[in-house]
Amino acid sequence: MPKLLRVVQPNTTENIYSFINRLTEENKYEANTWILKQAHIPNYYGPRNLLPWNFNFKHLIELTGLDLEQIGSLTFQKEFGYEGKEYELFNHLLYKEALMGKTCKVCPKCINEFGQNHKLWDIRFLLICPIHKNLLMSHCPSCKKAIPQYRRNFYKCACSSDIRTFLFKACY
Ligand SMILES: [Zn+2]
Ligand SMILES: [Zn+2]
Repeated sequence: MPKLLRVVQPNTTENIYSFINRLTEENKYEANTWILKQAHIPNYYGPRNLLPWNFNFKHLIELTGLDLEQIGSLTFQKEFGYEGKEYELFNHLLYKEALMGKTCKVCPKCINEFGQNHKLWDIRFLLICPIHKNLLMSHCPSCKKAIPQYRRNFYKCACSSDIRTFLFKACY
């Protein structure tokens, strides 16, 4: 039996922080930190640390009743074709170098329209929103700090600026 009263299904286009935010909203918790803590996700972790072979999803599985396969769909396990050999050279480099760590890039328009972090933003070399074609933003325009993945309020920077209202640069 899951520990959460209400569970949402992972969406394959969102990352794990976005999924946790939807769980938070569905269960009417005040902040994402409750589920992040219960899932044992430290605040210095990011997508590159949260892959099924280097993170223990036991607690998130207990909380949600979902299986590892479903939770793995919030990572790049399938897309990058990892076969389970930890030091297989290219995959190891790919995950280590190509995925974002504790900071993230965001498209304010996507967060506003869909209320989700697109999983593709976690690829470090992707700089443009695939949907809106504007530059993804890595820093808050108000406090100039890098935007963390681990946010108490998914829609806001720690300085309380609303990410949905960030002015972004179009890129044509
Ligand atoms: Zn977008
Ligand atoms: Zn800020």
